[in-house]
Amino acid sequence: MSTPRDDYNHVFELLQQHHKWFQECIPLIASENIPSPAVREALTSDFGNRYAEGWPGERVYAGCRFIDQVEFKCIELMKKLFKAEFVDVRPISGVVANLVVYTAFTEPGDTMMALSIPCGGHITMGKKRLGGTAGAVHGLNVEYLPLDYKELNIDVDKAKAKIEKLANEGKTPKLVMFGASVFPFPHPVKELAETIHGVGATVGYDAAHVAGLIAGGQFQDPLREGADVVSLSTHKTFFGPQHGGVLSWEKYADRIKRATFPGMVSNHHLHAVAGVTIACAELLEFGKEYASQVVRNAKALGQALYERGFNVLAEHKGFTQSHVILIDITKHGDGGTIEETLEKANIIINRNLLPWDIKEGRHFMHPGGIRLGVSEVTRLGMRESEMDEIAEFIKRVVIDKESSEKVKEDVAEFRRNYQKVHYCFENATEAYKYIRIR
Ligand SMILES: *Cc1c(COP(=O)(O)O)cnc(C)c1O
Repeated sequence: MSTPRDDYNHVFELLQQHHKWFQECIPLIASENIPSPAVREALTSDFGNRYAEGWPGERVYAGCRFIDQVEFKCIELMKKLFKAEFVDVRPISGVVANLVVYTAFTEPGDTMMALSIPCGGHITMGKKRLGGTAGAVHGLNVEYLPLDYKELNIDVDKAKAKIEKLANEGKTPKLVMFGASVFPFPHPVKELAETIHGVGATVGYDAAHVAGLIAGGQFQDPLREGADVVSLSTHKTFFGPQHGGVLSWEKYADRIKRATFPGMVSNHHLHAVAGVTIACAELLEFGKEYASQVVRNAKALGQALYERGFNVLAEHKGFTQSHVILIDITKHGDGGTIEETLEKANIIINRNLLPWDIKEGRHFMHPGGIRLGVSEVTRLGMRESEMDEIAEFIKRVVIDKESSEKVKEDVAEFRRNYQKVHYCFENATEAYKYIRIR
């Protein structure tokens, strides 16, 4: 029987083992990134133990003097980064940000359009039958935006036809959500905004994956292209800790504020808000340089894997214009098994459904694809030549079937030179260093 003290010690051992492991890994999960030491410092502050319900300056709690100043600064910097009229930084994650959007712009029973999950849509956009947030939590009827499999993008003509068909059937969409979890190419917001507004629907844009690229001016600019509201996560391509946010126009401010509080949050993770504020300052200073390197790295990784025999999708378009590439891995196995084998070599990627997987009878546990993102390795200072080395490691495991143990040693050696966070003001502490404050 372990004593409470044993269990307590064991948790810290596990945390330290995780940190040590990640110092020796190649982290390629497209939804992850590494924050700067400055952001990690903000996360350890007392802000995380406080409440600040309401809007800064109008709280219903005492003790918010400094918290309010930070949140106002966060709003100000986010407005600058995204050229947004209105920003709410209280949603505590991308999922909560989407729920804020659904609550502000729809009623249960309304129809929403979004990409299906195999086509890159997120579980928050899912139907009730699948347990997705839109259907199961907010009661929306979800209809799918059509995806062009070859272009890996929304088919504009088919989308227009579907919106008109739904309108004729009395199921006019109230909200059309652009954005995805596999998001290699900018979505046709500009091309579809007029049709969507024409049926009286709201144009939503889920920037969870690409917020850091938009902030760095390297992807599309949804608010200028016709989006009414943008939801985001602050930790995928963005530099923050795990948190969320909503961007919009002044005319929608009141309904969004109300959907967030009292609708969706009570405490809103004030330490994370402080971290996001630091992240915004870093992106204002370094975002352009970072985001353009991310896109160059993703293209370089796509090319390097393609040349080594991998079926990287959208080769005719340079594989990607974002941080992510999608690979049809069916020649070499299934996504789940490949994910596991690569993990044994300390290469951390994730399995992913391909748009046609469900139709071909594949299951999300063993899908036909893998998804690779380069935000974190870019933040660690890697460039195009390192993408070539990473591709070689992946080939040795997946195609040459070299032992994972052997490759793991070489991966750790390769990683030794990339232990600091780049694109930040200070990096006195190594990226994955375990910090003890007990
Ligand atoms: C990751 C993701 C979310 C959810 O973000 P969390 O911050 O993890 O809650 C929402 N939408 C899309 C498209 C995503 O990829």
